[in-house]
Amino acid sequence: MPILKNALRKLDTWRDSYGSLSETGSSAGQLDKIREIADQLASRLEGNYPFHHPSYAGQMLKPPHPIAWLSYALAMTINPNNHALDGGPPTSEMEKEVIQKMTSMVGYDSNSLGHLTSGGTIANLEALFIAREIHPGKAIAASENAHYTHQRMCRVLNCEFIKIPVNHRGIPDLDFVKKNSTKIGTLVVTMGTTGLGIVEPLEEILKVAEENDIRVHADAAYGGFFKLISDELSSNIHWQHLFECESIVIDPHKHGLQPYGCGSVLYKDAAVGKYFKHDSPYTYFTSDDLHLGEISLECSRAGASAAAFWATLELMPLTKSGLGSILSSTIRAAEKFSSHMKELTGWKLYQEPDLDIAAYFKVPADKSISNLNSINQEVFDKGMELDKKGYHLSLFKIPSGIFSKKFPEYKVDADYATLLRSVFMKEEHEEFVDELIERLVKCNPAR
Ligand SMILES: *Cc1c(COP(=O)(O)O)cnc(C)c1O
Repeated sequence: MPILKNALRKLDTWRDSYGSLSETGSSAGQLDKIREIADQLASRLEGNYPFHHPSYAGQMLKPPHPIAWLSYALAMTINPNNHALDGGPPTSEMEKEVIQKMTSMVGYDSNSLGHLTSGGTIANLEALFIAREIHPGKAIAASENAHYTHQRMCRVLNCEFIKIPVNHRGIPDLDFVKKNSTKIGTLVVTMGTTGLGIVEPLEEILKVAEENDIRVHADAAYGGFFKLISDELSSNIHWQHLFECESIVIDPHKHGLQPYGCGSVLYKDAAVGKYFKHDSPYTYFTSDDLHLGEISLECSRAGASAAAFWATLELMPLTKSGLGSILSSTIRAAEKFSSHMKELTGWKLYQEPDLDIAAYFKVPADKSISNLNSINQEVFDKGMELDKKGYHLSLFKIPSGIFSKKFPEYKVDADYATLLRSVFMKEEHEEFVDELIERLVKCNPAR
């Protein structure tokens, strides 16, 4: 890639300006061997599923934008550490700039605080840590559809976790919240569940929370960037209230076109910074400016991540016509797929998607859940078998109790109903949906 080559050359000139070094680096004289290993590596990497191709509509996976990996690679040759300003002044600045853009996107004002993390799990852990510090002894509650990390992190934090039941549409039971309100300190609202992309009804939840003196944390690790195009979504009203949440987690490595290693946590009120106070003798603070490491549980973090995200947002800003245009196309792909599914004989859409994730199933002749499970497992397997002419989906299990509230005509002879699930998170999906439907119909197991 000539762009990367040119930028690398420019950095070499900068490095050489300190006085050029003879080739004593660990790569000197090893070029032949390195070439051979790179070739071996490429062969081994071909063992992946085709995450780049729209026939892969399985999990939340896609390659980063070229500007992201180019920028990451470039910054990584220096290897700045965004733990402390001194570990990488320019990439720390970039991190502050992108965080400012993220806080504006969600609607926070200049009194907010935030930083990048290595992912959504650690970002949520940090938000829950703050939740526990603010309400010691109180529980953290999240719906049954919340990411499993919340329950596990409550164990890490030695904090009680309350699981809120959901109805057949996946909506948390607010009467349950009211009944348990005195025990709950912070409630986690998932804006785009990992399973079905459900946007939980933030507007109503905030009302109940306010009446009962409960803090609200939004886990928007997957869905956060859909805020950019919320006026195109049925969940628009809930996105309008996002800024009322005390903290928000958004993963740039999910819908922000970044390589893995890029999450973020944002706080409405910068005063929470006091809970991170530490007196590390190792951190070499040479300025009074805020050091990102002072407001974060993690220490070393790749400055390259901030560089990659910064460069991506320079190219595709956090606007409806910038990064938003990609999110719009994913919504159109899911809508197109869903309307096809509803008209296809022998298939059913499980429910209308809120975002870009669809769940559906092939209908078994005898309307039993056990046969539904085996027939859909077969559809799933066949796509993989056909490999380059097939498709890659994921399977999603719904407790039979919930499934039969929607489809009461099914015989309940298994604990779970296994559905097919597709994440249409690539721009290319919109175009490919018809082909995917055709492939699904063609691979139809004979039953
Ligand atoms: C992906 C996801 C997480 C976990 O984030 P990682 O970046 O995978 O650590 C948490 N919550 C939700 C809603 C997610 O979709």
